[in-house]
Amino acid sequence: MTKHYDLIAIGGGSGGISAVERAAKYGAKCALIEQGKMGGTCVNVGCVPKKVMWFGAHVAHTLSIASNYGFDVDVKNFSWDTLVKAREKYIAGINNWYHTYLKDSDIDEISGTARLLGRSFSKNSVEVNGQQFTADHLVIAPGGFPIVPEIKGADLGMTSDGFFALTEQPKRVAVVGGGYIAVELAGVLNTLGTDVDLLLRRQHFLAQLDTSVRDALMEEMANNGVNVLPSISISSISKTDSGKLNISCQGGHELKDFDTVIWATGRAPNTLDLGLDKAGVAMDKSGFIPVDKFQNTNVSGIYAIGDVTGQAALTPVAIAAGRRLSDRLFNNQPERHLDYDNIPTVVFSHPPIGTIGLTEEEARELHGDAVKVYSTQFTNMYYALTDHKQKTVMKLVTVGAKEKIVGCHIIGQGADEMLQGFAVAIKMGATKADFDNTVAIHPTSAEELVTLR
Ligand code: FAD
Ligand code: NDP
Repeated sequence: MTKHYDLIAIGGGSGGISAVERAAKYGAKCALIEQGKMGGTCVNVGCVPKKVMWFGAHVAHTLSIASNYGFDVDVKNFSWDTLVKAREKYIAGINNWYHTYLKDSDIDEISGTARLLGRSFSKNSVEVNGQQFTADHLVIAPGGFPIVPEIKGADLGMTSDGFFALTEQPKRVAVVGGGYIAVELAGVLNTLGTDVDLLLRRQHFLAQLDTSVRDALMEEMANNGVNVLPSISISSISKTDSGKLNISCQGGHELKDFDTVIWATGRAPNTLDLGLDKAGVAMDKSGFIPVDKFQNTNVSGIYAIGDVTGQAALTPVAIAAGRRLSDRLFNNQPERHLDYDNIPTVVFSHPPIGTIGLTEEEARELHGDAVKVYSTQFTNMYYALTDHKQKTVMKLVTVGAKEKIVGCHIIGQGADEMLQGFAVAIKMGATKADFDNTVAIHPTSAEELVTLR
């Protein structure tokens, strides 16, 4: 027998969970279909395990400079296994919490892979394990998966999913790619003591970020011992008799003796086997689902949120889109939608980067001479006593006579926690004068942002 709901979400990740939990709060009868672990990418193979590893690396870094602060520390060992087991226990707790939470919220959890059934069936029909479900509103939130390039021997490498499954610390790793994941995993591994080569196909990584923070990170990673190799084009990967991986590059160059190669070369949407064509839901050429500002697809009653839409692939974006959609559908807020402008984001590199709004380059392209930039660089006081000096760089991009702030870019210790508050001000339309009128908090790094000249 077909079971009918007010709303069904496909995908128990950041987006799907948020849509059903908000809808259920308004009294809607909801179901959530998940084929894997509850919590999706972020909880299981994304933000959460990554941040735990980043914290682990943070401890390693602190220990490495402890002697400069007078501590006689003798680090005998680092147990990857202990860290990974503790991380997975923490994640299992989050998975379980979700099951209880969904039950308590009267949301039906359906385990299995969902496929849309198409128009010959009743409206918004979905099949899971041979059983059919229908809904007035269908939210598609299946996220994505890591792309492995079509290169000979590519399957000898692993993706970020494989990284999180590692039970032993690899001694020597090649990370391929120049996006968030490449930079973050390279940083974590290097700080925890792995020998890391970071292979970029361009001259630089994090192409979408302001050059100030990008260049500073490049310098800092090189200072920290990451071997950043620009302009590398890989032709094949092979395995030696001793089990090591060799990378052959175009031009004849060979990079040798890696324990692990990690592909961090982007992510593709989980839409291949979803039955979207049967339901008439349009996809673009990469498989992403185009939506309007209300998350509507081209088919009435079917919506898409999160990574599958190809817009700002970030957990808080998927959450915000899901919540706003349910506010609109079930709480009589017809104009409620997510504004995708000025989304703050952090790269959990070493040191971290916090960024929001336009880069200087983008602002100049849009606004020409109306752009004025304020920037600074300094050594954080934390590093005043240490042998290793880490740079902090900050830039405010302003536009017009009122110097409205349209971009803020920070790299340095604490940038990850610093940006959120400034993002509120920038989202509200803050000007340089508003920043100047705010009394500084001393001694911090953040105070530099309200005293820029
Ligand atoms: P997902 O969280 O991917 O959830 C989709 C779910 O749908 C999955 O559980 C999948 O199993 C399920 N599914 C797919 N197809 C079907 C089907 N047919 N039937 C049933 N279930 C299905 N973002 C941040 O904001 N901060 C970070 O620090 C951060 N770090 C990251 C680190 C890594 C290594 C990665 C890979 C991503 C990171 N992200 C981060 C991005 C973030 O994880 C995603 O933007 C977010 O998880 C997207 O949420 P979603 O709901 O769209 O999809
Ligand atoms: P990105 O899209 O950020 O980056 C992909 C990178 O792979 C690019 O640098 C690209 O190079 C490179 N690349 C693609 N194909 C190849 C190839 N064949 N050979 C070499 N390099 C290649 O993807 P990620 O997988 O890093 O991350 C996906 C998304 O997840 C991010 O965009 C982000 O939205 C989210 N995320 C967020 C995090 C956070 O908030 N801290 C952390 C991790 C992920 P090029 O630059 O030349 O195009």
